[in-house]
Amino acid sequence: MLSADPYIRLVACAPLYRASPVGPVLQPDFYNSVLGIDTDLTATELLALCQEVESALGRKRDVRWGARVIDIDILLFGDTTLTTPTLTLPHPQIQHRAFVLLPLKDLDPSLEIPGLGSIQALLAALPPQQIEQIAAANWTAKSGKLSNS
Ligand code: ATP
Ligand code: CA
Ligand code: CA
Repeated sequence: MLSADPYIRLVACAPLYRASPVGPVLQPDFYNSVLGIDTDLTATELLALCQEVESALGRKRDVRWGARVIDIDILLFGDTTLTTPTLTLPHPQIQHRAFVLLPLKDLDPSLEIPGLGSIQALLAALPPQQIEQIAAANWTAKSGKLSNS
């Protein structure tokens, strides 16, 4: 749905991971992946588009960090660093989440994250987390259905 937007070109799709949930709310495992895009949108416009896609897929904004059908965050926007009431770049939790850093590293193992350092060093600093790869890169090109097998 994102790549259907005329101002977005999908350039990379990381493998798909399954991770145990973190945080206070009891809920099923999460599926996680990362897309690389080229875009003519501003970061604020891209956030609005991500939220439109979330809504179109049935996301309701109720319990923060609770189970949801879809969650689309902007991890990085080039080298931009930004803090506004509605958008922080890089994503404010990026360095704490193996389920984000692992697929991000798959797209660019030499990535430097503005203000935080190399992705390799950030991953090395994390405690072990329950996470497994369940589909190879470019899984979006296949069936839209997710499966555990
Ligand atoms: P988390 O931030 O811990 O990943 P979440 O994704 O579950 O939490 P949401 O309820 O989806 O939280 O989003 C809360 C708000 O975060 C959004 O309304 C948005 O304005 C803001 N936000 C700030 N920075 C970003 C970002 N880089 N990407 C997406 N949303 C962001
Ligand atoms: Ca999120
Ligand atoms: Ca979000």
